[in-house]
Amino acid sequence: MGESQKHVGVLGLGRMGAALAGALLGAGHDVVVWNRSPLKAGPLLDRGARLAATPAEAASADVVLSCLSTYDTQQPVLEAASPKVLVNLTSGTPEQARDVAKWAASAGVEYVDGVIMAVPQGIGTPAAQILYSGSETTFSAQRDVLEVLGKPIFVGEDAGMAALYDLSLLAMMWSTMAGYLHALALVGTEGVTPEQFAPVASAWQAAVGGFLPRIGEQVASGDYATDVSALDINAAGLAMLVETSRAQGISTAVPAVLRELFDRAIAAGHGAHAIASVIEEIR
Ligand code: NAP
Repeated sequence: MGESQKHVGVLGLGRMGAALAGALLGAGHDVVVWNRSPLKAGPLLDRGARLAATPAEAASADVVLSCLSTYDTQQPVLEAASPKVLVNLTSGTPEQARDVAKWAASAGVEYVDGVIMAVPQGIGTPAAQILYSGSETTFSAQRDVLEVLGKPIFVGEDAGMAALYDLSLLAMMWSTMAGYLHALALVGTEGVTPEQFAPVASAWQAAVGGFLPRIGEQVASGDYATDVSALDINAAGLAMLVETSRAQGISTAVPAVLRELFDRAIAAGHGAHAIASVIEEIR
């Protein structure tokens, strides 16, 4: 262990916790791990990690990362561990993160909440954005460790902010995936395979991603004037999508939700405005 290396504890060796511990070992940190099922630690022990018999043993480290399935399963483990410095990478709601921050403050634990915008295979690469909130002092002090896991981004002193970003980004991911699955089902009614459709869909997804900055500007300014595409034209297209989905014999559930939202925005007077105006109905 070099001078810049730290003693890091990892609580939880599921798919994600094991990836976190593996990246830390790869960077030369002194890693001590704990998991309810200790056998899962085997591959990490082969790479030089030490196995703690209890959460408290792992919590003697300079900094402890926790990554368990839920906050409910995590809290008894945290209370048993009582670390000095905790980076909580278990996914939850903003309220849950704030509750842990309150517990940490009362227990004298330095606390940062984190959310991982990556799959385990992406851990340790700059493509893995990991968002943090809570104590900025603690975040800065542990930045060397956090940089090993992915690209660290601090989003605010309110411990709930990382979870709020997480759920907002997941809203985008799940909507995109549902739209893609609807598209695959629709082209599939005429025998188009996912292999045939995927290249066209990927290029289209990249083009749609290019619309995001402009939509953000319109939402920020509240100026929904457009010379690109008005909401009523998009709503007409959406009606065609619902009708064609029905005619081809597949569920209309995904586009129907959007159609209802677009129609409400038009009824509220946004027909000539950009799609960004739909946010007024969502709010
Ligand atoms: P996982 O593979 O199912 O692992 C769950 C972990 O929680 C295991 O260490 C498990 O221990 C532990 N656990 C469950 N119930 C427990 C209990 N009652 N007491 C003590 N330990 C318990 O899940 P994962 O994919 O690693 O996800 C962990 C967290 O990372 C979740 O909050 C998830 O939302 C978040 N996350 C995951 C991904 C991903 O792609 N996987 C991406 C972003 C965020 P055992 O091994 O003993 O069962």
